[in-house]
Amino acid sequence: MVVTFICAVIISLLAAYFISSRFFQHEYTTEKELTKMIKGTVEMIEQAEPDKVPDIVETMRTYYFDLLIVDRNGISYLEQPPSFAITQADVDHILHSDDPVPFMFPYAERDSSRMVGSPVAISDQPYALIIDFNYEEEVAGRRKTIIFTLVTALFIGSFVILLVSRHLVNPIKKLTDAAKEMAKGNFSVRLNSKNKDEVGELITSFNHMATEVGKIDQMRQNFVGNVSHEIQSPLTSIKGFTKALRDEIIPKQEQREYLDIIYQETERLSRLSENLLRLASLDSEHHPYEPEKYRLDEQLRRIVLAMEPQWKKKNLQISLDLAPVELDADQDLLEQVWLNLMTNAIKYSAENGTILLEAKRVHGGVTVKVKDGGKGIPAEAIPHIFDRFYKVDQARSSKIDGSGLGLAIAKKIVALHQGKIHVKSQQGAGAVFTVSIPELREEEMND
Ligand code: ADP
Repeated sequence: MVVTFICAVIISLLAAYFISSRFFQHEYTTEKELTKMIKGTVEMIEQAEPDKVPDIVETMRTYYFDLLIVDRNGISYLEQPPSFAITQADVDHILHSDDPVPFMFPYAERDSSRMVGSPVAISDQPYALIIDFNYEEEVAGRRKTIIFTLVTALFIGSFVILLVSRHLVNPIKKLTDAAKEMAKGNFSVRLNSKNKDEVGELITSFNHMATEVGKIDQMRQNFVGNVSHEIQSPLTSIKGFTKALRDEIIPKQEQREYLDIIYQETERLSRLSENLLRLASLDSEHHPYEPEKYRLDEQLRRIVLAMEPQWKKKNLQISLDLAPVELDADQDLLEQVWLNLMTNAIKYSAENGTILLEAKRVHGGVTVKVKDGGKGIPAEAIPHIFDRFYKVDQARSSKIDGSGLGLAIAKKIVALHQGKIHVKSQQGAGAVFTVSIPELREEEMND
């Protein structure tokens, strides 16, 4: 990080150096300044005594100026020749220009020098004055200043970056350590951060992720525990009864009853594994979802008919209030939802009770209600009712058949349809499960 920062600083400083030195070369002496300067020199020479002119030239030469004064034949007025020469054409140009404006020579090959010429009168004789302003030393001086400034900036910048980087790198180091810790399975790692910057945000997100992963891990552990528990109890009875049968401790006339129990327990196991597989499949992204248009009321009527043996057994009344509604959804999946809700309604109803099944079109979709007058659900259990393996009456679970997966599956399927399922219930006063399936679902809205 520090190396990257310093490299960035060095690159910027080098770029700044080249840009600024170019700028100085081209802009240091502007034409305006040169014009002013030569006008001043002309005035000074014209006002001075002619024999003082060489002295003026000498003085000026000590200040980066070189002067040339020539007559119309190109003969120098000064004894001391300058370090440069000009052509006769340039001399003519200066002397014959009607315009008294100083003549700027085109930029010479030497980048750091500029020449400017102007007519001047010495002892009433016309001469051409050419000044060569060499600012090489000036440029070198400026360059030194730039280099010094930039190098100072580099040192100070690098030092500051070194200090600041500690502040930046330390939390990242801590994050790395925490991530390693998490990879080892410790999901309780949390980092402190009071900063509101990007790193602070990253730490907050990390903590959030650790909490969520911890929850998922907890859920996984619970899930394994629940599955083992659900498998264990039927297995224990199967094992016990088969052993008793094998050892012939059970009288002949009771054997059939025990075999029936074994059969029921195997059925229970098989239902459990079926439900688990269904949930796993629903959880996976690749679960087939094949919506089609179909008549919901007909589907519900078919289910009630198919379940007749169950509700007849308890002498239940099924009251239907089914409007003719068409739905665009996965028929097979929703069938599972209605089956699970109806099974529960029958299972938890007292004998001779009534179950109301209602389907109607509402604004934006359809709702299905399953209402029973059974034992109801206690208020404290309602928030957990759709959790996997949740059973209100844990102790009686072996008597009332069920593994606590039915509502979890129903909820998952309804969610796949972007619908909602909720329950209203009071202990002893029955329960109403309402499923709403929206008509305009996301994928359709996106189209
Ligand atoms: P299960 O297969 O055990 O019935 P569910 O997920 O279908 O599992 O239901 C979870 C729990 O919710 C059940 O154990 C039961 O206690 C309660 N429950 C579900 N439906 C009803 C209902 N209609 N009346 C009373 N309790 C219900």
